[in-house]
Order: sequence, then structure tokens, then C-alpha cells
Amino acid sequence: MEELWSAALPLLRQQVGERNFVTWIEPIRCTSDREGVCLEVPNRFFQEWITRHFLATIRNTLAAVAGDARAVRAVVSSTWAAPVPPALPPLPARRERATTAARVPKIGQLVAHYTFKTFVVGDANQVAYQAAVSVAEQPGRRFNPLFLHGGVGLGKTHLANALAHEMLVHNPRQRLACLSAESFMNSLITSLRQDQMAQFRDRFRHVDALILDDVQFLAGKERTQEEFFHTFNTLYGNGKQIVLTSDKPPAAIAGLEQRLKSRFEGGLIADVHPPTLAMRVAILQQKAAALFCALPDEVAWVLARTGGPSVRELEGALNRLIATATLRGLPISAELAQQASRPFAERPTPASIEAVQEAVGQHFNVSLADLKSHRRERSLAHARQVAMYLCRVVADASFPAIAEKFGGRDHSTVMHAVRVVEQRRAADPALGDAILMLESALRNRAAA
Ligand code: ADP
Ligand code: MG
Repeated sequence: MEELWSAALPLLRQQVGERNFVTWIEPIRCTSDREGVCLEVPNRFFQEWITRHFLATIRNTLAAVAGDARAVRAVVSSTWAAPVPPALPPLPARRERATTAARVPKIGQLVAHYTFKTFVVGDANQVAYQAAVSVAEQPGRRFNPLFLHGGVGLGKTHLANALAHEMLVHNPRQRLACLSAESFMNSLITSLRQDQMAQFRDRFRHVDALILDDVQFLAGKERTQEEFFHTFNTLYGNGKQIVLTSDKPPAAIAGLEQRLKSRFEGGLIADVHPPTLAMRVAILQQKAAALFCALPDEVAWVLARTGGPSVRELEGALNRLIATATLRGLPISAELAQQASRPFAERPTPASIEAVQEAVGQHFNVSLADLKSHRRERSLAHARQVAMYLCRVVADASFPAIAEKFGGRDHSTVMHAVRVVEQRRAADPALGDAILMLESALRNRAAA
């Protein structure tokens, strides 16, 4: 069995990618019993993840290697030597660095785990993500320059790094410059001081792609803008890809020369929006999984609702939660999540579930009895889902508590409703407005 597994490993590595391989496949111990092949894993979370994402691939690969099909299942090992969750960050970054050391740009550095694989895609960043992927596939061809902008902590640097990683995967020989506008300026100043401008120009004008992060930093720095303008023109003229990120669109960067603004506007401008609630949950689960940490849905939702729009802040909340749980030796729970996030988020007074039901009933012209009933007419179901969603958002109630107050349903129904409304809300501005209005009315009433 060990031999079979060893033979399968390189194939699996190719199929699932380096990061997944290191995180999920490498730790597996492969044994067998009467029922077939056992993939021994450290805990239930791991088991579910493997089963959901990799079991089919593993089964096919083992069949290919062994020359016959076998039953394969993931089992929680009773004799796992090292208990897995050493849940403290930054474990994945360290692990990955060792395996991706080959991918280095000519100028600057990449964050090893800022890849497309670890980037959660949703409505808020779909366009920026797609643009980054196509640029990585065909640099200098379609979107040049690519200008990504959006608020702080929304993933611009992550996307820019992911794009660079991907370009290097496609063609390891490409010479990339991936750095912040600030580093560009510092490098320029040093070169000026040491009278080495010829070398500076030679360095930056002979790359295959330039990825410059946070170009809003160039505002008011005239000498740097001047130099960058020429770098830009040279690269652009040679069909080299240029990628820029900024916290604002080009037109809104005060103190940026007009000629640079119009260059930046000459390609594709894509903005990154704050993630929706459902995306925030997905991001948390992604980050937790990378830390080998089981994050129950219920807890992810509590965390997802705390703090501002920034994903960086969201990660901070998750790390604090894991640290608190580890230090105090407690399981990760919704209560702990609430405690861990409280000092950082001023929580408004929650409304009661009854108040939400009443307000939503009035808005949709639906009786309380119908709202709690199991009747399934479309418009009624819609109103009920909105009510459940608002209970979650403004009443601060748990899924089971909400389910109970809606005619004793299963809590998964409420979870589903919250997801559905979250999506509809993003797609339908009228619904979005109605929800905002109900939300503020309920909050005001609760605070009074
Ligand atoms: P920005 O450059 O826009 O200020 P970053 O790219 O530095 O933001 O992102 C901040 C943190 O949030 C990083 O750790 C990044 O991995 C994470 N992050 C942001 N968006 C996502 C996403 N869609 N999926 C996964 N992680 C994300
Ligand atoms: Mg950034």
C-alpha cells in the first residue's frame, strides 16, 4: 500500500496543485483494510474536506497507478501521532515558501500564499479576478495596462501577486518587476544619489512585465512620476504588460499628472468591491482551512458580520479568535467569536426576532401566521427568507433560535435563506434598498 501511495503522490501533486498538495495530500497516511483503501487523516474536518474536494481525484489516480479500481475512503485515524491543529498562524505561508522558492521575480518579491487558488471569488471581485487571470495567461495582449482599484484590504495586492505567480508558472523565464510604487521611488532616489540612472533605466525598462502596487503613492512625487512615465512608455511600446493597483481610480488621484492618468485609463480599469456577507464567510473558511482549523458555519457567520469591509480586518478577527481559543484551551465557538470581536466592533443593540417579523410582515403585506407557516408560495417564501435574513443581521440571533421562531424549522433552512437573500440583495437593487430601510428602522427602534 505504501508503494502504491508513493507512486500516486507525484501524480496527485500535479493534479491538485502545490498548495493543496502540501496542505491536504501530504499529511495523509494510506493504509488498507477489508473494505478497501483507507486515507487516514487527523480529524473530522480534514476528513470532510478530503472527501468533498479530493476523493474522486485520489480514487482515479490510485486506480490508474494500480491498474484496477478500488474502494477508497477517508477515515479519522485513531492513532494520529502529532495532533494536527497547531492552529496558530502563519503556518501556511511558511510551508508554502519552501515549495515555491523557485518563483521569484527579477525585481521585488512575491508573497508566497497570495495565489489565485487562495483567492475567494464572488460578485464583488469577479471582474478584477477575471481580468487578472486573462492578463496572466496572455500578458501584453488584451488588457494593457490593467488598473485595479478598490478600498483598503480588499485584495488588490493579493490579486497582483497571484497574477505574477501565475505568469511565472506559465513561463518561469519571464522577467517580472513586482513592487510597490514606494519601492520604485526609493530605488529611483538611491540611483539618483549614486549617479546610477543608466543602470536604473536599464533595470526597469528591460522587464517583461511591470506590476506596480499602490500607485496612488506617486501623487505629488513629480520626479518619480516623470521617470515612471518614461518607464511606462518604453514597456508599453514594446508590448510588455503593465499592471497597476490603487486605492482610487486614476481620475480621482489628486496630484497625479494628467498624462499618467490618461495612460492608466488607456487599458482596462477594474474595481474591487467590499465582499458580500457570503463571500466573507467563504474567505474565513478558506483562511481557517489553510490553518488546519475547523471553523463551524455558525462561528464563521458571527465573525463575518463583525468589523468594517476590509478583508485584512476580517483575517485579524479570525486570528484573534484562534489565538484566544488556543491560549485559553477552549473550543472555537460562536460565543468566543463574539467575545473576540467585541472590543473591535461597536455592536448596536439587537432588535428582537418578533420586531423583525412584524416589520417584514408589514412591508411585504404578509400576516405573522403566514410568515411562520410552512406554506410555500413564492412571494410568501421570499418574505420569510428576508425576515430570517434580517433576524440574523439585526436581531443577532443564532440559526437555531431563528429556526425555532419560524414554526420550528431546521436551522439549515435559515442558513440557506441567509445565503439566498445575500445573493438576491446583491443582484436586485430594489431589494437591497428595502432591506437597508428595514434594517435601519429596526435598529433605530431597538436603540430607542
Ligand atoms: P489591499 O491590497 O487591497 O489593501 P490585500 O491584497 O493586502 O488588500 O488583502 C488583505 C488581506 O485580505 C490579505 O491577507 C488577503 O489575502 C486577504 N484577502 C482579500 N481579499 C481576499 C479574497 N477575495 N480571498 C481571500 N483572501 C483575501
Ligand atoms: Mg495592497
